[in-house]
Amino acid sequence: MRTVISADELRTGIASLARRLETHYQGQPVMIVGLLNGSLLFLADLVRELRIPVEYDTLRVSAYRGEATTAGAVRVEVGHVPPVRGRHLLLLDDILDTGATLQAVTELARGWGALSVRTAVLLWKRDRTRAGFLPDEYIREIPDVFVVGYGLDYNRKYRQLPKIVEFDPSIPAARQGLPS
Ligand code: 5GP
Ligand code: MG
Repeated sequence: MRTVISADELRTGIASLARRLETHYQGQPVMIVGLLNGSLLFLADLVRELRIPVEYDTLRVSAYRGEATTAGAVRVEVGHVPPVRGRHLLLLDDILDTGATLQAVTELARGWGALSVRTAVLLWKRDRTRAGFLPDEYIREIPDVFVVGYGLDYNRKYRQLPKIVEFDPSIPAARQGLPS
């Protein structure tokens, strides 16, 4: 199992992100909206680390489905619009790959009346990102490899791993040190 970010590195990376956010927002309240399902663990750990007034909510978005390891068309479910009017909005996702997901959500969110809209991701596959859309904050840049763990899945599995590891869908999971 090739570790991309250990549980310890996640803790320290999230703590330094929290310090940068505290500096940026200067004590102003922030509404943090995590994209489901991938950002759940990140959201839970980040909000407990922040020393500024925080509210949080979630948004269901699908970009990656089934066995595909490349993002398809982005679907943003807007059955629930988080109450962001008059607040600073920080959108969280697990990973920024092509950028299509966060770009679509950011554009949508601009119509919700937030004071500002920013994005933060755990991982950034910078080489795959189309020009013009960058995360405002990220914890770690990674090369173009498929990863699972700490919220990231393969066919709904492995989200619960406390660290982020490389995963090759063409090799049996057991041979990669993961349960099948
Ligand atoms: P984007 O829209 O930026 O191309 O893709 C973002 C979404 O693609 C992420 O939220 C994630 O669901 C999925 N994705 C991209 N790369 C990976 C990866 O290496 N592992 C997993 N599990 N999902 C990925
Ligand atoms: Mg996702």
